[in-house]
Amino acid sequence: MEVTMKTGVEGPKHDPYGTETWTITGEYKGAEITLTYHQGLDEWFTIDTSSKVRVNYDGGTLKLMSECCEKLTGKTFDEVRGIWEEKEYGMFCETCNDFPPDVTSHKGYPGETIYCCTKCSNPVNSFQDMSAVI
Ligand SMILES: [Zn+2]
Repeated sequence: MEVTMKTGVEGPKHDPYGTETWTITGEYKGAEITLTYHQGLDEWFTIDTSSKVRVNYDGGTLKLMSECCEKLTGKTFDEVRGIWEEKEYGMFCETCNDFPPDVTSHKGYPGETIYCCTKCSNPVNSFQDMSAVI
């Protein structure tokens, strides 16, 4: 599994919109396949060279994207993102002085995932998935 994430900006200059583009490469039926997922003003995903599939707000296409991700990597998109974030930003428990600490994830507000140290239960990081709120 290979994951990259690039941030960018799109939309009109007077009202720019931050974007995230995820590229997740995995293997399916012996072939290497790349899933690209773009979040921004426009939200879509592609599988290899497929045409863009627009993500709509009923959650159906987002579920489909996550299912594709699971077929390629054995993990849902949220899990893949969690692993990536942990690697990218790292987590540090100030109480235990552990880096990286063992963490468990908990659900917070809608779309929010909180990572807590397993030793002292203090939160060490959190992640907000805006798509779950909108
Ligand atoms: Zn701790």
